[in-house]
Amino acid sequence: MKITFYGAAENVTGSKHLIEANGFRLLLDCGLYQGRRQEAEQMNRTLPFDATTIDAVILSHAHADHCGQLPLLVKNGFKGKIYSTPATAEIGKLIMMDSAKIQMEDAEYLNRHQVPGAQNAKPLYDENDVERCAQRFVAVDYCRKTNAWTKLTGGLRFKLYDAGHILGSSVIVVEANENGTIKTVAFTGDLGNVNVPLMRPPEPPAETVDALLMECTYGDRDHRPFSDAGGELAAVIKTAIAENGKIIVPAFSLGRTQEFIYALHKLHDQEKFPMPPIYVDSPLSVNILDVFNRHSADFNQETWQDFGVKGEKPFIFDDLVYVRTTQESKALNSKPGPFMIISASGMCEGGRIRHHLLNSVDDPKNIVLITGYQASNTLGRKIEDGVSPVNILGQSREVKAKVITLHEFSAHADRSGLMNYLSKIRSLNHLYLVHTEAPQDNIFKALVRSKYPALDVEIPSTGMSVEV
Ligand SMILES: [Zn+2]
Repeated sequence: MKITFYGAAENVTGSKHLIEANGFRLLLDCGLYQGRRQEAEQMNRTLPFDATTIDAVILSHAHADHCGQLPLLVKNGFKGKIYSTPATAEIGKLIMMDSAKIQMEDAEYLNRHQVPGAQNAKPLYDENDVERCAQRFVAVDYCRKTNAWTKLTGGLRFKLYDAGHILGSSVIVVEANENGTIKTVAFTGDLGNVNVPLMRPPEPPAETVDALLMECTYGDRDHRPFSDAGGELAAVIKTAIAENGKIIVPAFSLGRTQEFIYALHKLHDQEKFPMPPIYVDSPLSVNILDVFNRHSADFNQETWQDFGVKGEKPFIFDDLVYVRTTQESKALNSKPGPFMIISASGMCEGGRIRHHLLNSVDDPKNIVLITGYQASNTLGRKIEDGVSPVNILGQSREVKAKVITLHEFSAHADRSGLMNYLSKIRSLNHLYLVHTEAPQDNIFKALVRSKYPALDVEIPSTGMSVEV
């Protein structure tokens, strides 16, 4: 069995790994790369393989950096099936549609404003491409519900375990029988934290695993427990109220937004101080809510205890307003604070969040609240790192707003969570650290080596192949 790491190798976006066995070519994830605009544009426009040679895809979860290049794969001639959990299939279509829409709006904006270096901007794919891609999806349930393998051709079969990262996220286990020799590869996708709202804890495979492709976004640090987040969030809101400021929260429409709203709902219910209005300015988040409501059986027990027993919905409360139209979004530009805007994209590389930042970052009354991992070279990382001025939508802005980071809301496992998950994998021979970047990749590798000296641990580079 051969594995080639085509994306999320030495970086945290563009997840894409190819498994080859008995002539069958199975792609795990096909995500968009996010980073420097021109570099991202170039990497996303071309696939590193001929799409017509891929036999099937298994998608770990519906974040754009895992699924966002699938429409391009189909547009370029992929004719196979795309397997995922039912929730991932539903949310994936929404995410890819949103991505197509953002790309079309971006291209239109860049062309209209004649932004230097972005002449004749074109979307990678359109909504018709996404429709064609969505038709290739086949929903496969978590094996905790069915305990069954799903058979592929070429002597391959797979199972999906709960990854605890976002709704529908899975750990993929692929077994290949090559002339009677059986090898098993597991891919974590993105692993979640334990003791966080909504999600069940990540589930280790019951099978022995020869090779594990493991994310380690936060391989160098532990998060403060989620139970501390409420107090810190309350302090941020009180500061904004005292200064009549706006709180701008970049958040993935999927995952972080729902967990963040969950924490705000708990604060709201405690009624210790008056909450300012909270605007969720992401049409995608509104659509995703429906999917969350349909798949509430996948939530953890705590969600039921917090809200279910009171007959409340976790994502609906008095001070929370879901913004639907562009006019409503634009109206927030001139509205005086205090209030909060939660908007996408999570790393500030696309979507309405950039308009809110353009309109708010140069005012010291305002707060940019970072709640998730910001990849290198993204606008979100620059703001988090204190870079000023920054370029937003082709315009330069001084960053005078306060920048506050709360990593408790991360949907990624921390160092202890990763080590704990690793300790539950049986008979592991090879560990490939993916979806990570320097310096945490090497820090985590050293930690694993010190605990498991006999284990082969590697940080694959983009395009590298290994035989298992
Ligand atoms: Zn993810």
